[in-house]
Amino acid sequence: MSPESDDHPIRTTAGLCESCRHARRIESDRGSIFFRCELSFEDERFAKYPRLPVLACSGYRPQ
Ligand code: SF4
Repeated sequence: MSPESDDHPIRTTAGLCESCRHARRIESDRGSIFFRCELSFEDERFAKYPRLPVLACSGYRPQ
């Protein structure tokens, strides 16, 4: 149990996905933000919904 957990902001950073041309930002009905990696459709090494934040990625292409 972490005493800090209640104080963490809900907002999270997606890391590289935020500025990657392969990423599509998706907002759920409950307001959660996801990034779908469209490179995953053609290359199975990439997760459809990568665990965020992505700090290093061989598929990263800036927008
Ligand atoms: S290629 Fe990498 S950085 Fe780009 S959207 Fe996919 S997981 Fe994110």
